Amino acid sequence: MASVRLYLDQSLAEGQSVSPGRDQAHYLFGVMRLAVGDELRVFDGRSGEFRAVVRGADRRGGTLEIVERTRALQMPPDLWLLFAPIKKARTDFIVEKAAEMGAARICPVQTEFTNAERIRRDRLQAHAVEAAEQCGGTFVPEVADLVRLDRLLDNWPGDRRLMFCDEALVGAGAALTEAGPGPWAILIGPEGGFSDTERARLRAMPQASAVSLGPRVLRADTAAVAALTLWQSLLGDW
Ligand code: SAH
Repeated sequence: MASVRLYLDQSLAEGQSVSPGRDQAHYLFGVMRLAVGDELRVFDGRSGEFRAVVRGADRRGGTLEIVERTRALQMPPDLWLLFAPIKKARTDFIVEKAAEMGAARICPVQTEFTNAERIRRDRLQAHAVEAAEQCGGTFVPEVADLVRLDRLLDNWPGDRRLMFCDEALVGAGAALTEAGPGPWAILIGPEGGFSDTERARLRAMPQASAVSLGPRVLRADTAAVAALTLWQSLLGDW
């Protein structure tokens, strides 16, 4: 089995020849040292996965022939992960884990106690791509721009349920109980937690269920993985 697995940002189909971009050519032919005739797996996030063969190895471009489709596109469940960005390495971790665990969309949100004022969306998106390459996913979740939580809630879709992970419920034993299928989102707060105003607003939303993640206060990155696990095991594709 070819071990290199690469995301290509162009629609793929059997029989096509494609040129990887400069960075990808550097990775394939410079770092991984693929040569003419070597095989790899490629995916585009919308058409599944393909077996490809190197037809031209050039560190500035080269040519890949898309030979055959090896897997169909597997969409994750309609689950968004909303989280307040924290320190760089921990934010990177959250994006990577969300992509691996099967979130369909990753939405950084600015809450009252969020320190980060901006994010590098392109860098976070690259982490989601790398996670999909590594975990065998055929879909890459989109990383959205940073938005204010109150603005996001102003326009919250009526049919999208919200798993509101509320640290005020530590130890309350209120896990996700009234779960039903359909579009969902998970909301994880920043290191400082949610403000009283935010908590009151979220608790009043008919789409929201306030949820406890056990008797200990988890760091936001741990909480994101725990919440994704809980949701996936109850309602997802595990
Ligand atoms: N500083 C806050 C904790 C914030 S933890 C305090 O001391 O209370 C960061 C985020 O992780 C929280 O906003 C919440 O979304 C989630 N979280 C952590 N532990 C949790 C738990 N036991 N139950 C529910 N959510 C939790």
